[in-house]
Amino acid sequence: MHMKFTLLILIFVAISLFAANEVRKIYLCRKCDICLVKDSTPSSTGCSATGSHNWTLLGEAGNEVYLCSKCKHAVYIKSRPNAGNCSAAGSHTWNKLGTRGETPYQCRKCQVKVYMDKAPGSMNCPASGSHSWNKL
Ligand SMILES: [Zn+2]
Ligand SMILES: [Zn+2]
Ligand SMILES: [Zn+2]
Repeated sequence: MHMKFTLLILIFVAISLFAANEVRKIYLCRKCDICLVKDSTPSSTGCSATGSHNWTLLGEAGNEVYLCSKCKHAVYIKSRPNAGNCSAAGSHTWNKLGTRGETPYQCRKCQVKVYMDKAPGSMNCPASGSHSWNKL
């Protein structure tokens, strides 16, 4: 009984250590417009657009929030995301909104929703002009 319990704790510690060392990266498929966070390149099979996914690595997950005013993807990332292969067309146009937090904000104009520590930057709303952020 005691042995079993110790073993369970050891397994739990091992899993926690593994999770702490894992580097989470952000990938975007420019064909089907899916953005996801994973520790290695996602599988290329079964793109809902056609054929295989075409993954672009945007960067390492982190606490800076960037929004592309063309494809409307908001990402939580360590530093300015890779500009290549916007799912809308050409290169992404990334604008820094601020720092990730617990408070949800939504723009009345472009409908983008982000979790921020304070009101996001208003520059370059994908709808037009400046964002109109609303604290939720
Ligand atoms: Zn795809
Ligand atoms: Zn984009
Ligand atoms: Zn907006």
